[in-house]
Amino acid sequence: MRMGRCLACVALAGVFGLNSGAGQPHVYGFEKQGGFIAPDAGLSLARRHQDIYAAPSNPAFHVVSYRLDLFLAMVNENFAGRNQITLVMKAPADSLVLYQLKLTIDSISVNGVRRVYTVDDANERFTVHLGLLHQSGDTLRLTVAYRRVPAIPRLTDRLGYYYFHDTIPGLPANLGYTMSEPGDARCWMPCYDEPWEKSTAEMSVTVPAGYVAASNGRLLGTIVNGDGTVTWHWKEDHQVATYLMCATVSKFTVPSSILARAPGDSIPVEYFTWPRDSAAAAAYIPTVKQMITNLGKLYGPYPWDKYGMSSVSPFAYGGMEHQTITTLHEAYQTNQDVVVHELAHQWWGDLVTCGSWPDIWLNESFATYSEALWRETLGGPVALQGLLRDMLGFNQGSWSGAVYNPEGQGFYLFSDLVYSKGAWVLHTLRGAIGDSAFFRSLRMWRQLYSEKSAVTADFQSAVESVTGRDMSWFFNEWIYGPGWPVYSIASDWGGGTLSLRIAQQQDAGWPTYTMPLQVRVYTGSRDTTLTVWDSLRTEDFRFTFLTRPDSIAFDPDGWVLHQAGTPIGPPFGPGTPLSFSLRQNYPNPFNTSSTIAFVVPGIVTGNAAPAGVKLTVYDLLGRRVATLVDENRSPGEYFERFDGTARASGVYFYRLEIQPAGGGSITAVRKMVLVK
Ligand SMILES: [Zn+2]
Repeated sequence: MRMGRCLACVALAGVFGLNSGAGQPHVYGFEKQGGFIAPDAGLSLARRHQDIYAAPSNPAFHVVSYRLDLFLAMVNENFAGRNQITLVMKAPADSLVLYQLKLTIDSISVNGVRRVYTVDDANERFTVHLGLLHQSGDTLRLTVAYRRVPAIPRLTDRLGYYYFHDTIPGLPANLGYTMSEPGDARCWMPCYDEPWEKSTAEMSVTVPAGYVAASNGRLLGTIVNGDGTVTWHWKEDHQVATYLMCATVSKFTVPSSILARAPGDSIPVEYFTWPRDSAAAAAYIPTVKQMITNLGKLYGPYPWDKYGMSSVSPFAYGGMEHQTITTLHEAYQTNQDVVVHELAHQWWGDLVTCGSWPDIWLNESFATYSEALWRETLGGPVALQGLLRDMLGFNQGSWSGAVYNPEGQGFYLFSDLVYSKGAWVLHTLRGAIGDSAFFRSLRMWRQLYSEKSAVTADFQSAVESVTGRDMSWFFNEWIYGPGWPVYSIASDWGGGTLSLRIAQQQDAGWPTYTMPLQVRVYTGSRDTTLTVWDSLRTEDFRFTFLTRPDSIAFDPDGWVLHQAGTPIGPPFGPGTPLSFSLRQNYPNPFNTSSTIAFVVPGIVTGNAAPAGVKLTVYDLLGRRVATLVDENRSPGEYFERFDGTARASGVYFYRLEIQPAGGGSITAVRKMVLVK
């Protein structure tokens, strides 16, 4: 889901030339406005999910499929429906508890037999009394006939089904659509709507002739009925969460195009728009096809049988990623950030769905970072950095929270915390583990949980399986921990040594970050990029630099979400004795090269006696495969690169031997893993 930006603000941005990117305003999360202004007045979002929704029941069943028939008169918010729910019992039970809110249920049958039911509107559920004990493994078909009657008072932000008559100024035709995230599917169909529960969905929508009904999956056909109505019959054969099911109805035209995903494999790309928007939508379809292709290269092929978008207004959001058929606000139907955000959700949110609402960042942060990746596709790292800078929101209330579980910390479920800050955290992860491991992790995430739901710990496991490293340091700091790092750096040079001091000045209650940080040292026309593992509130690093650097840049390529701190000083000198160390290579495992850091002990001065230094690499059989260093070196910190391009995957050892000028010998051995 994407929050919209106040339409007036969009217009102003255009007038005053405040556009970012390709002539379009970036659509910020709602907090950026200093309080949410709904794109369309009258639709309020000021609610908290946990305050309103009943605690989930632990069902004795799994829903296999929904077969939903909707009958929309398109004259008011009235409609009639019938939902056939096929479910399999997971435990013995003589009753079933499902969800509904303010629906009028007319009858319920189970396997063709009428059954007694009770409705508990306060707790948003209904109970079907089965009349006998069903056993685990039994398949039941529940048929619920119901109506939505407008006379019942409803919360305006939990209608589930939204109807607008063409008497509203500017509306070209009557409009009806569903909007369910997070838990409002129960407001338009009896169901079991939790994000971890997925099933197949088939929907037939009967509307007056002239109306077009868009829904999930493939269009099986349209039937012209004898009573002046038409039935649109859609089927989603893939697993879908209830909050991603939808029906969107108006007098649409449908410009479309075919996208060849692979040889012999094509899908339609369609826009359901009003005639006034049709030409612009049609002209934008080639861009959407390019987005599908590009995201497919990053995340694996687009997963569904079609991609459609319907363009509506009024709508309280910028867009909503209904599976295979995104709903977009009319004002954003060609806004690249919103369009690519919702498209990216087809992978992150729809194909792999957050396993609970505290895990919502797995949907929203990924979709928001995809906006930046699309900018990177178009304009390279500079364009990506530009959008990320626009997203910075240190003064946003929710940003101080942890990305995980916004509501548990008192924040709105869809606050900017899980959009912009979460996108930045993913970018930081990418910087920490490298492009190859990052995108392999995403494809692994997809492979493991395709058409399933999964939680944050599952994502961490996917990243760990790719990197071969325990990633709890990263997740504890950036996902489960509040805040962000505030870095200040000081440097000094003397006697051939560059000294760096990195201070972390963030709130004492925020994590102390363990992070690989890059420092770029400029000397004349040359620059050298150093990577240090910073893990303390104040930490010093020393490097051998024979000439005085002109300047240094901290995090020069913008990989780490951080704020600049207050200057630290005074500069410290190079007289502190260094002690011997051989550090773990980074990255590890690696493909195809890795850096090994070590320290030659002693006092760093211009005339320190050099020591004999030998750094060698061996394979598992003890054969020497490389000699990286074999010479005298002065006390200081050194970085050597091992290039495994010509080597086979496997375990290697690196051995450091130092013979100080005063005599004796110090050795250390560490293990590294080359993965190709
Ligand atoms: Zn979203």
